[in-house]
Amino acid sequence: MDATMNPDVLVVGGGPVGSVLALALQLGGRSVTLLEARSKGAAYADQRALALSYGTRLILERLGVWDELMQEATPINSIHISQRGSFGRSLLKAEEHGLPALGYVLSYGNLCKALDMGLSKCRTVTARYGAEALEIIPSSANASLTFLYEGTEHKMETPLLVLADGGKSLRDIPGIRRETKSYGHDAIVSKVECELPHNNVAYERFTSMGPVALLPNGKRDFSLVWTGKHEEIESLMLLDDETFLRRLHHHFGDRVGNFKKIGKRITFPLKLSYLDPVTAPHLAVIGNAAQTMHPVAGQGFNVGLRDAYELAQKILDTPDELIGSESMLQEYRNGRKSDTRNGLIFTDFLVNVFSNEILGLSVIRGLGLGILDLLPSVKRKIVSKMSFGSHG
Ligand SMILES: Cc1cc2nc3c(=O)[nH]c(=O)nc-3n(C[C@H](O)[C@H](O)[C@H](O)COP(=O)(O)OP(=O)(O)OC[C@H]3O[C@@H](n4cnc5c(N)ncnc54)[C@H](O)[C@@H]3O)c2cc1C
Repeated sequence: MDATMNPDVLVVGGGPVGSVLALALQLGGRSVTLLEARSKGAAYADQRALALSYGTRLILERLGVWDELMQEATPINSIHISQRGSFGRSLLKAEEHGLPALGYVLSYGNLCKALDMGLSKCRTVTARYGAEALEIIPSSANASLTFLYEGTEHKMETPLLVLADGGKSLRDIPGIRRETKSYGHDAIVSKVECELPHNNVAYERFTSMGPVALLPNGKRDFSLVWTGKHEEIESLMLLDDETFLRRLHHHFGDRVGNFKKIGKRITFPLKLSYLDPVTAPHLAVIGNAAQTMHPVAGQGFNVGLRDAYELAQKILDTPDELIGSESMLQEYRNGRKSDTRNGLIFTDFLVNVFSNEILGLSVIRGLGLGILDLLPSVKRKIVSKMSFGSHG
């Protein structure tokens, strides 16, 4: 096994966040090596629905991939927020905020495909699929990476290694601590067809079990995100489709009529998790690898994408000899701190306040939603933060 010095920025993980970083860097003329454990195209069939903020669309536009995605993405023109068992509700409308849409729903697979296509056109990006990172060692001189590619172990050293592996593989990095809070809740995600058309409205409904969301996805379908305690979700997973859809109708209410059809249901555990700090010498961790949030406000993916885009801008603004230096990494950390913290606090707040049954709280929440609907300036602030993060 030889160690080779790689002068490029080295990115581990070619999911949406790692790919956006690589694309943004090559636009600025910097060469990048990207290592992705899966084979090329393995993610394209992944139907998981991502909720993209309007700010994320602007990033994808700058990277030249939005035209490709536009036909696949379903715009969210309004968001209807309500609470089960009370009359208070709030409605956010894109037109009231001068936006063409509040966000978009897009499948993970389609996004990965468009980003891969963008990457394959770049001469300054070397993408290796089927390359699995095994170990990362940050040190004062550089970061070193051991990875497995075509059955052989390789080692590379680089002034800047960026870890965007979704938090799935490399857990313990010296000098970085992971804080995790498990909600004891899981989410069921699937596609559902309803009696009434979606009219590009997304529904967020808070219930004592946990938030449930319906996002318009395609011509008629919605993407469902139904959260609840682990045991409750487990028992919902055991139901046949017909019984499940009846339970969903009872739980969600009648806003979209009967629920007629459902696709494959998958579940995943919900947690809040973040790294402190998100850098080590010559190493930055971004995207889901750096922070994971409850899906209640569709923030996690968008915060991760902003990590990638802002890190790319920081690298492009840094002279060659300072790339990966502590001063560069510190500026990156400081720039991202409030966006990440606000996303974590906001989603955690919504879960804690809207998913418990303390006496009287339900009435206050109902009133709160009704009052929010009467306060355009507060609504403007919420829409701006959801669209553009803390720089909104
Ligand atoms: C089951 C599930 C369902 C979800 N559903 C939703 C949803 O409905 N809506 C929503 O908005 N968000 C959802 N999320 C969250 C969303 O998927 C993430 O926010 C988003 O994928 C983060 O992108 P990423 O690029 O940081 O990480 P990932 O998308 O996880 O990408 C990481 C990439 O790194 C690669 N990799 C991992 N380890 C290595 C290694 N050792 N070496 C090389 N490559 C490696 C992986 O193969 C992958 O391609 C879901 C997450 C999960 C796990």
